[in-house]
Amino acid sequence: MRGLSKPWPPSNVSPDGQAPRRFVDAERAYRTALPHRSDKTRFARTEFDQLDKGKLRKVMSGEQSSLCVYCERRLSENGRPAHVEHWRPLSGAPEHALCWRNLYLSCATIDTCDGAKGNRRLRWDDADPDLPWPTELEYERLVGFDSDGRMYVRDDVNIDEATRKALELAIDDHRHGGDRRCAILNLNHPTLVAGRRAALDSERTRMEKDFENRTNRTATREQRDEQATQLLDQEQRPAFVSIRVAWLRKRLGRGR
Ligand SMILES: [Zn+2]
Repeated sequence: MRGLSKPWPPSNVSPDGQAPRRFVDAERAYRTALPHRSDKTRFARTEFDQLDKGKLRKVMSGEQSSLCVYCERRLSENGRPAHVEHWRPLSGAPEHALCWRNLYLSCATIDTCDGAKGNRRLRWDDADPDLPWPTELEYERLVGFDSDGRMYVRDDVNIDEATRKALELAIDDHRHGGDRRCAILNLNHPTLVAGRRAALDSERTRMEKDFENRTNRTATREQRDEQATQLLDQEQRPAFVSIRVAWLRKRLGRGR
């Protein structure tokens, strides 16, 4: 999970053959009509379904550098179209159903990310606010990885308790005494942990190859940092880019 910039809502969200309509105009019309509807969730679903998802996906894929907003798998990995995901679910927060910063692409898997989340909200307690949108919070500052590929919330960052607990529950199951709750996004699913380890192996192999014929056989701190910046600057980032960057910057492990 990383912070994102979403400055350009699509200039046309109408299906082909219909009069073009900008996303911001669709959102404005929706917001005007919503207070007058008795079944707000149904209205939200109907209006959202009218948007051309292919046109949404095209813009969002660019914003997200072709990675799932939650797990950072490549969106095209399993051949199925990415799911257009409401960060705050359409059923629980219809006021955000057509809000551009509430919409993201999630990988189309059943047991992690949007598939695991369903209509749950990204929060610990019903009285808490939802986790902030990635446009509002740099999640890469909050999450860390160990060398086995597991993800966690860093102990050494200063965040409020509601955000910390919600993010911990988003990532992993919670077990404390008799209190057991299933992870909302399930980001330490064995497939994801194995994928992160493979990403680390591929970075190590590439680094060894790059330096095998040089006089200095290992990369300097500056060279590793430059490689991390290059990964982040790519239009299509490699899967699990955050653990790759953490390894390159020598920040793997608890408390780093
Ligand atoms: Zn995912």
